Amino acid sequence: MSHSKKGLNTICTHEGALEDTLYKGATSPLYMSSSYAFEDVDVKRYPRYFNTPNQEALSKKLAALEHAEAALVFGSGMAAISTAFMAFLKAGDHIVFQQTLYGGTYNFVVTHLERYGISYSFTDGWSVDSFENAIQSNTKVIYLETPSNPLLTITDLHGVANLARNKNILTMIDNTFASPINQNPIDFGIDIVLHSATKYMGGHSDICAGAVASSQENIDKLYQTAICFGGSLSDYTVWLLERSIKTMGLRVKAQNENALKMAEYLESNPDVERVNYPGLKTHPEHELAKSQMHGFGGMLSFELKEEINVSLFFKNLQLIRPSMSLAGLESTMISPVKTSHALMSPEDREKQGIRDSLVRFSLGIEDFGDLVKDIENAISKTKSVSLPV
Ligand SMILES: *Cc1c(COP(=O)(O)O)cnc(C)c1O
Repeated sequence: MSHSKKGLNTICTHEGALEDTLYKGATSPLYMSSSYAFEDVDVKRYPRYFNTPNQEALSKKLAALEHAEAALVFGSGMAAISTAFMAFLKAGDHIVFQQTLYGGTYNFVVTHLERYGISYSFTDGWSVDSFENAIQSNTKVIYLETPSNPLLTITDLHGVANLARNKNILTMIDNTFASPINQNPIDFGIDIVLHSATKYMGGHSDICAGAVASSQENIDKLYQTAICFGGSLSDYTVWLLERSIKTMGLRVKAQNENALKMAEYLESNPDVERVNYPGLKTHPEHELAKSQMHGFGGMLSFELKEEINVSLFFKNLQLIRPSMSLAGLESTMISPVKTSHALMSPEDREKQGIRDSLVRFSLGIEDFGDLVKDIENAISKTKSVSLPV
């Protein structure tokens, strides 16, 4: 592939850009038309056909970023994910999901798949064996997330891809947490890469979008379903997303650095019980992460010591925002037990190791010292008040 020779930041900045032949402007012109001529043209263009000039331009950039032959841009991460399920599964098929799934995906799986006659199983872990054990004779797709949410476990991309390929099973990965800057699953034999572009690709907490990258053959197949479900992205947002991605390499690098420093700092903090971050040598899959990631990402999670009141800790944060969103320029924290995993039973949460004291931390690009000050201040405030008994 010719684009694989270009550096990452060059791809982010230039790949797929539309040329302004009329005025020689620096940025891609924005074509907002929802109506294009049908006579004497090669392509019938229409926003829901994913083929306006700006949609096609951004798709090229996304494909290059994921070392894929082709890509499609969607209106949200869930539009990309649900369309992929509908395109590659049919009644009678079975799909294997990794035990820990993004909440929206989990919700789609448990509320919709059976209605379409598609059965599913969850793995009981994230080892290659746990995937193999969940496979049935009618399994058509294996679906994984690595690093996982919120415990940052690492799944062996090469191992799962090989297992699936030998059995003619398609592999799909939600690569949102890593971003294409830190992980390119296609290089390890994974077939279909899904993204919530709302996260690292957008990066400024102001865009909702999604993406799928794969072989041309798979994207052609996906396309037939995608134009029926209609989950395309408006050209204005496509244009904004192109602009955001130009700085993705720089942003994610800064977030990786903040996250690694933060993980090391938290590990040495006496008020912290444990830290989950694939970049730490103490992480059980650290070596695996090193072998399949270019960077360890901007997400981590940690448990506060039992005596610290987590709600009070959140209330006393001043810089870091207690917010559902992740991957933006600004640092955010959430309590998975109260948000993303609130619907899961306490027993299931305990089984997966998601405790009440767990905090998920999305590192932004702020100065590291200011983030540490904010955490230390919030922890100290939880100690200076006596709680009603
Ligand atoms: C946010 C997110 C999604 C869903 O994306 P939307 O853009 O909100 O539809 C899917 N997977 C992961 C890992 C996410 O963080």
